[in-house]
Amino acid sequence: MAILNVLTFPDDRLRTQAKPVSQVDDSIRTLVADMFETMQAEKGVGLAATQINVHKQVIVMDVSDDQDTPLVFINPKIDAQSGTKINEEGCLSVPNNYAKVERAETVTVTALDAQGEQFTITAEGLLAVCIQHEMDHLQGKLFVDYLSPLKRQRIMKKLEKEARLAAKA
Ligand code: ZN
Repeated sequence: MAILNVLTFPDDRLRTQAKPVSQVDDSIRTLVADMFETMQAEKGVGLAATQINVHKQVIVMDVSDDQDTPLVFINPKIDAQSGTKINEEGCLSVPNNYAKVERAETVTVTALDAQGEQFTITAEGLLAVCIQHEMDHLQGKLFVDYLSPLKRQRIMKKLEKEARLAAKA
């Protein structure tokens, strides 16, 4: 297993559209294992392959308090959604920045698991938020896209400054 480098906003590669996985094989399962390791090392609750510069429709997630309920979504599709809710979101690709984003309150998603088996779940709460957030990544979209241009600009400047300081250190 390996901890992979997570791309950070405003890296253009985060804007890439992920392609569907044609076959869930051992290379995909290795990718999934590496993504879980990376997500845990970075203390995240979800990670999309886009964030580690792999442009395949693969998401890993664990929103449980004890980090013991791993979920894998390959080629996810939203079948239904209802309600709206505003939640505070963060992102491993937008480190240390949080903002309120409106999402559907409940989503029903069909995807393949790491065995290639199809499953459908209806999610609410943090799980629903996380699914929508990670599925956005696969479309090249970030939570900062929902914010005002001014707010997005401010976050971008802050991250660019941090990156410059880190490069000097
Ligand atoms: Zn994210």
